[in-house]
Amino acid sequence: MPEATQPTRRAFLAASALAAISAPTFAQQQLQQRQRSRRRDPGGGPVVIASGNGLRAVTLAYQRLMSGADPLDAIVDGVAIIENDPDDMSVGLGGLPNEDGVVELDSCVMHGPAHRSGAVGALRNIRNPAAVAREVARRTDHCMIVGEGALRFARSLGFQEENLLTDKAREYWLRWKASLSREDDWLNEDQFDLPTPNKPRSAAPPSPSGRGPGRGVSDVDREVASNPAGHIIWRDNIPYTTGTIHCSALTAPGGDLAGCTTTSGLSWKLPGRVGDSPIIGAGNYTDNDTGSAGATGRGEAVIQISGARTVVMRMEQGDHPTDACIYALELIARKTSAPRLLDGQGRPNFNVCFYAVSKDGQFGAACFRGERDFAVATSAGARLERCATLYD
Ligand code: ASP
Repeated sequence: MPEATQPTRRAFLAASALAAISAPTFAQQQLQQRQRSRRRDPGGGPVVIASGNGLRAVTLAYQRLMSGADPLDAIVDGVAIIENDPDDMSVGLGGLPNEDGVVELDSCVMHGPAHRSGAVGALRNIRNPAAVAREVARRTDHCMIVGEGALRFARSLGFQEENLLTDKAREYWLRWKASLSREDDWLNEDQFDLPTPNKPRSAAPPSPSGRGPGRGVSDVDREVASNPAGHIIWRDNIPYTTGTIHCSALTAPGGDLAGCTTTSGLSWKLPGRVGDSPIIGAGNYTDNDTGSAGATGRGEAVIQISGARTVVMRMEQGDHPTDACIYALELIARKTSAPRLLDGQGRPNFNVCFYAVSKDGQFGAACFRGERDFAVATSAGARLERCATLYD
């Protein structure tokens, strides 16, 4: 190598070495992301957090809190926006149904100052289960009412009954039903003798990865795939979703707390299956001395570690909300041993997210994996922030 080029090469090597030192490793990026999500709202005032589908919910709840509303009323009003949205297929109207094609909803609420909770499970035909759960807490001596009893309770309070199954949700249900067996009398799409209206005949090849809809999918597929609430696994162009909205509110640092979780639960579930969302201590828990937390994702995993209570307990012990969420995820990972629930690296093959706000106004959220957002409203405005992750 000519002498004249050596300084250049040395400089190049030095610059590369410097770049190698200064470029953050993947682990450092993860740490930076967690540190970013360990922020506290500098302005004081209310703090409202929610799952990624809850931006409109936190916006409204924040406004209600600024007008002096009770924190539970503020968040029940907020989540009603999502429950009423037929395009959110994880909650309320338009939620994906059970294996019979019936939408069954679960919800619970917890009021911090009164340390009082209410819940409904497997509620049919009522689009706002969170409001019904609040009435369980307000008007009864019970904490939970399910099934037919929950429907009768809601009806007696004047909640309107309606069919919550939208055409879009029905289309998916029929697709799922047909996919169960190629031998039964429900034909799979590739067995149809007639073309499907508005769909090219070659459409809907199975997704190779099982993680998203395949090529040639309909607008409905794309919409579901981009649903920020969804924990979705695609198999043969059928979404196997979980998805929920959790929302927690703090009136001001040092003030009062409330939490609420509402969902249509796992798609295609057994009728009567109840997930974590209406279970106090699992999908939602509020302690007015410490904080409020909730969960979305595989409810069976959350129930079996008392997820939201675990997060609040860790905050009680001094964890930042983000670290408390990470702790609960680690606990699920440690306790998950069935091979059908593990990936090639022995990690849970499903997703769970936890969301938490502490009494002093700190907040955070964490999931096992994926680029997932949570919603937050503070004096700095309503926005989406990235959840921390336990894995990649
Ligand atoms: N946790 C809910 C359930 O298991 C679903 C979800 O949040 O994704 O019913």
